[in-house]
Amino acid sequence: SASLERSGTNQSFSADPKRLKNLFQRQKEHHLTVRQSTAAERKAKIQRIRDGIRARRQDIRDALYADFQKAPEEADLTEVKAVMDEASFAIKHIDSWMASESASTPPLLMGTSSEIRYEPKGVVLIISPWNYPFNLTLGPLIAAIAAGNSVIVKPSEYTPHSSRVMREMIEELFDEREVALVEGAVETSQALLDLPFDHIYFTGSPEVGKIVMRAAAEHLSSVTLELGGKSPAIVDATADVDDAAAKIAWGKFTNTGQTCIAPDYALVHESRHDAFLKRITHYISEYYGQTDEQRRTTPDYARLVNEKHFSRVQSLLTDAVQSGATVITGGQTDADAQYIAPTVLSDIPSESRIMDEEIFGPILPVVPFSDLNSAIDRINEKPNPLALYLFTRDEAAEHSILSRTHAGGTCINEVLLHYMNPHIPFGGNGHSGIGMGHGKYAFREFSHARSVLRRSYGSKLMRYIYPPYGSLSRRM
Ligand code: NAD
Repeated sequence: SASLERSGTNQSFSADPKRLKNLFQRQKEHHLTVRQSTAAERKAKIQRIRDGIRARRQDIRDALYADFQKAPEEADLTEVKAVMDEASFAIKHIDSWMASESASTPPLLMGTSSEIRYEPKGVVLIISPWNYPFNLTLGPLIAAIAAGNSVIVKPSEYTPHSSRVMREMIEELFDEREVALVEGAVETSQALLDLPFDHIYFTGSPEVGKIVMRAAAEHLSSVTLELGGKSPAIVDATADVDDAAAKIAWGKFTNTGQTCIAPDYALVHESRHDAFLKRITHYISEYYGQTDEQRRTTPDYARLVNEKHFSRVQSLLTDAVQSGATVITGGQTDADAQYIAPTVLSDIPSESRIMDEEIFGPILPVVPFSDLNSAIDRINEKPNPLALYLFTRDEAAEHSILSRTHAGGTCINEVLLHYMNPHIPFGGNGHSGIGMGHGKYAFREFSHARSVLRRSYGSKLMRYIYPPYGSLSRRM
């Protein structure tokens, strides 16, 4: 990371705790101005991000290609469009999100009125991962701005081209006392975490999530943690196997499996197991080509982000195969190109590492189950997943799964798409995260709900609540 740290283009800030503290201090001093910004001013800022992205569409595609050969069309859908949609949604709803909510008054408090005001938390920190660098950095930034915060953003060092495009854009669009982007790796992140931010919005792994929460505890900063985990996809005896295979193949191999809500493994009813393996192999061929040569050269299939992640995923694969798993399709790897073929495994020994760690790469273990209860037990033995997918035609199965498992979010007969609906919250549950993102939910995450009770002069004083208490006991 030291060399990346040096090659980061933002020489002015990287990992220099003094300069970071100075930046933080200047944001703090200027914050009263940002705090009082009107809805129109916040909309204008978000509109600037929209325009900035529109103007850099090609740079964004190029950066993502340079970082890990992400297909331009996929970049358009999962990065550019995702951020543009988040921005439009915020612009459309910001007035209603900012509006105070009036609250009812219980009889005891007659003569008072109460409201809830959504106020900015203050100076906030956003730390983001590399897998969707634009989406997972600018999405939370839009919400933070909508809520009236001053923001320091620290994207991942693993996607330096994307970070550079975002830094140039933010430097051009914002006064750094309002929004600043700091490039850098772990030391930079830790130097930032030493500062008393009013909120920290972290997206990344559960391990680093714990480090962030420990650092936040020092200042009692509030946190949003968008983490990961092993998200299961269940295909039950009543499911349309062909449909499930088409969708799970897409959800798994998009971004080469480097998606926090990708189906990590499939639990397939034993009566559908073989058919599922056939259909998913068919769809992999349809999406990425019949042969390994075609899958290696298709422009639609990205690489593992770096050597470290390549080696990690490759070793999960090797371990599984050595301990007896069968490769149904794929299995090829190429270290020089950081390529791992879209791979489906069956006959997984239950103690293998691939069933323990989040895979975060293009390998789908398929595990049969005999009855839904055993599938539920298997899921409940592990930490709460970020997503859980169920393919079924059986309402009772749906009810069973929803009422007996925990997950951040769930799709029935779909994968990933819950992420794309801004009207519902996105987030984890325990080990897969704390707090919520998207739309109003992210706005609230970056806001403090301040309760205000008001008594206007002239209305009756509640004398009876003061001592001597004789009259109070008569009223209660
Ligand atoms: P990561 O946790 O390694 O890194 C995330 C960020 O934390 C980076 O900016 C990095 O510089 C910083 N960081 C790393 N180590 C640190 C340390 N010791 N101290 C302080 N900061 C540190 O995660 P990643 O590899 O970039 O992303 C993959 C993980 O993120 C997966 O677990 C995935 O499921 C999860 N994820 C979750 C979501 C979500 O929305 N819930 C989205 C994408 C990814």
